Parts: sequence; structure tokens; C-alpha cells
Amino acid sequence: MKIKSADFIISNSRVEQCPNEPLPEYAFIGRSNVGKSSLINSLTQRKGLAKTSGRPGKTQLINHFKINNNWFLVDLPGYGYARVSKKDKKIFQKYITDYFLKRKQLVSAFVLIDIRHEPQKIDLEFMQWLGENAIPFAIVFTKADKLKPNAIEKQVQSYLDTLTSSIWEEAPPHFITSSSKGIGREELLDYIDSINR
Ligand code: GDP
Repeated sequence: MKIKSADFIISNSRVEQCPNEPLPEYAFIGRSNVGKSSLINSLTQRKGLAKTSGRPGKTQLINHFKINNNWFLVDLPGYGYARVSKKDKKIFQKYITDYFLKRKQLVSAFVLIDIRHEPQKIDLEFMQWLGENAIPFAIVFTKADKLKPNAIEKQVQSYLDTLTSSIWEEAPPHFITSSSKGIGREELLDYIDSINR
């Protein structure tokens, strides 16, 4: 897919205030510092579209970018647990779960994972939550330039093995990317194109 236009539309913290247009939507999410802003800037080839950690003023908002005037790329804040005091039960922040549960336009989520890291509990629990709520998602491994090719393969296989040995019968689709080297960019955009409704 060729990116002809990428425009910031709106930021908000409530799914009800997200754009009213019935365009298909793809949401990017991951822990802070995973490389989400860099990936969005690389995918759209717009350097400052999503803010990167190097810049101040990062906010916890749902950001909508309209791409090629026919789909939305959604930049979601990093997830974390919100503790429900009474039972000390851990749940994900409500505005994030609300977005996934209520946003009809959502076609797929993309969960970003730093390729160098071992599986983290919060990422696994978040993917489990997506699965339990029948929300389609793919995994995007980031910062692949930080590992050698054989280490990439080993690391990805071990991550997918963790998923299939616990909660999943089948591993979700996955992509290996590097924003600084442009690795995986075309594959990811072509995948978005292929599942575009
Ligand atoms: P965010 O907090 O998830 O939006 O992460 P950022 O995009 O701001 O990136 C966090 C840090 O990782 C920054 O220092 C980036 O320069 C670095 N980074 C992001 N993507 C890559 C990548 O593909 N390769 C390398 N080597 N560093 C990256």
C-alpha cells in the first residue's frame, strides 16, 4: 500500500468522541517505549505524526490519523492495570477496554512487543483479554535491527511458543519490524490492505 496522505484528526479519552465516520480502523498499542510512535511515523512516512519519547508532552489519549482518506490508524496509549480497590482486582484502564469493546469500526488491533524482551505478564494478559473478547489482533515485534537474524528467529519462535503453550491454540499473525531500518513496513501495510473491509 502506498501512503498518499496521513492526517491527524482528533485526540480524546472517550470512545464516544472518536470520529463518526464509518471507516475501517486499525489500532496500535503496547507498553510505553516499545517503539509505537516510531512505527507509526515509519508506516506513514511522516516524521512527526506521532510524537516520540524524545519529545515532551506525551499524553494518554486515543489519537486518530486518517490515512489515504479511507482508513484510520489509531494510536492508543500504553496499557496498564487500573486497580479496583475493593477486591484489589486488576483490570485494564477503562477507556482502553471501552475503545476495544465499543468501537465497531475496529478491524484489527496491533500489539507491539519489543523483540529483545522475554514475554511480559502484562502483554500476555492483555492479549488474553483481547482473545476472550473476540477482538482480532496481530503481534508486531519492534526494533528488529537490535538483533542479528538468527537471534530474531529464535526470539520470535520462543515468544510464539509461549503463546501456544499457554492460552492459544494457534499463534496470531505476527510481523517483524524495525522503524529505523524500515523492516516489515511493506508487509504490515499490505496486511492492513488485505484485511481492509
Ligand atoms: P513509544 O513510547 O512506544 O511511542 O516509543 P518511541 O517510538 O518513542 O521509541 C522509544 C525509543 O525506542 C526511542 O528512543 C526510539 O528511538 C527507539 N526506537 C523506536 N523504534 C526503534 C527501532 O526500530 N530501532 C531502534 N534501534 N530503536 C527504536
